[in-house]
Amino acid sequence: MKIVDVEAIWLRVPALDQPCEWGEDALIVRIHTDTGLVGIGETDSSPAVVKALIETPASHETCQGLRDLLIGENPLEIDRLWKKMYRQSEYMGRRGAAIHAISALDIALWDIAGQHYGVPVHTLLGGKYRTRIAAYGTFIPRPDEAGNRELVRGLLAQGLRSIKLGGAGFGEDLRKDRELLRVVREEIGDDVQLQIDLVGRWRNYPHALAQCEALREFKLNWIEEPLPSDDTRGLAHLAERSGLRVSGGEGLATRHEFRHFLEASRPAIIQPDITRCGGISEMRHIYELAQLHGAQLVPHGFSTGILLAATVHFLAASEFGELIEYSQSDSPLFRGLVKNLLPLEDGHVAVPDTPGLGVVLDEALIERYRVRP
Ligand SMILES: [Mg+2]
Repeated sequence: MKIVDVEAIWLRVPALDQPCEWGEDALIVRIHTDTGLVGIGETDSSPAVVKALIETPASHETCQGLRDLLIGENPLEIDRLWKKMYRQSEYMGRRGAAIHAISALDIALWDIAGQHYGVPVHTLLGGKYRTRIAAYGTFIPRPDEAGNRELVRGLLAQGLRSIKLGGAGFGEDLRKDRELLRVVREEIGDDVQLQIDLVGRWRNYPHALAQCEALREFKLNWIEEPLPSDDTRGLAHLAERSGLRVSGGEGLATRHEFRHFLEASRPAIIQPDITRCGGISEMRHIYELAQLHGAQLVPHGFSTGILLAATVHFLAASEFGELIEYSQSDSPLFRGLVKNLLPLEDGHVAVPDTPGLGVVLDEALIERYRVRP
C-alpha cells in the first residue's frame, strides 16, 4: 500500500472577514492510498498556517512540506513516518504549528492502519480498558444569572457529573467570579465536580494564590491554566501551596515540552490536545511521562468529531484514561461534520468498535464550508 495524495481541507463557518469563535473553523486532512483506503485526521490550530506547512514545496533537506514527505510511502509505517516528518521539517517545525500539522497526519495514518487491519484504533494501541468513558462538559458562562442556571441544568440533564467553566472574562473580577461560582455550585450541589479554566489570566503567583483562597469554599476539582504556561516557577509554587489541583498544557506539543512542564511546573493534571501535541503516537509518550511523574492525563478537546473519535480511541486504550472533555459547542463543524458523531449518553461516551477511527464525514457540509483560498 502506498500514499498517493494528502489533502489539507480548511473549513470555516463565518466568512473570512468576519470574526471566528471557538469551533467555527477547522483543518482536516485526508490521506489517500493506492488501495482506495482514506485516512482522516484534523488539527485544532490555525488552518491557513497548517495548510501551508503540509502543502509547501521543499526548501532545504530539513525544511520540507509534509505532503511531499508522505507521498509514495507505506502508511502503515507510522512511527518511521512520524520521525521523518519531524526531522525533515525541523527548520520550520519542532514545536507549534508544524507539530499540529504532524498531529493531523498521524491521526489519519492510524485511521488507515485500523481500516487496513479491520480493527478499531484502540485495538492497535494495545486494547481497550473500558467500553465507555465518563465525560465532563465545558461551557462559557453567560452574562446573566438566569442564563447560567439554565445552561447548567442543561448540562446536568445530559447526565454529566463533572463540568468546567471558563472564558467570557472569567478570572478578571473576583466579585463576579465568586457570584458565578455560587450560582453554579447551588445548581449542581456538592456531588458534581466543578473545575475552572483561567486561560492564563491570573497575573502572577501571589495574585493567583489570593484568588485560590477566595474561591476555596466552592470546592474546585481543578484550576486550569491559572498562569501562562511559561510561568513555570509561579505554577510550581501554586501546585505546592494552593492546596488545589493545577492543570494545563493544552497549548504544548511533544513529549519534550511536556517533560519540561511536568518537571518545572509540577501540575497534578496535564491536558494535551491529541490534534496538537503530536497526534495519537506522541500522546502515548506523553501519557507514559505523566505516569512517571504521578500526574493524571485528561485530554483537551474542543473541535470536531474527528478529534473526539481520536481522543476516545486513545483513552479507551489507556489504563487510567477515565475522563474526556465533551464540547458543548453548537457549531455545525462539531455537530455535523462527522455524520456519526459519538454522542454523549448519560454523561458518557461509548467506545466504538468499528475499524479505524470509524468516522464518516458529511461531504455536503465540507463543500458548504470549504475555504478555497
Ligand atoms: Mg483550557
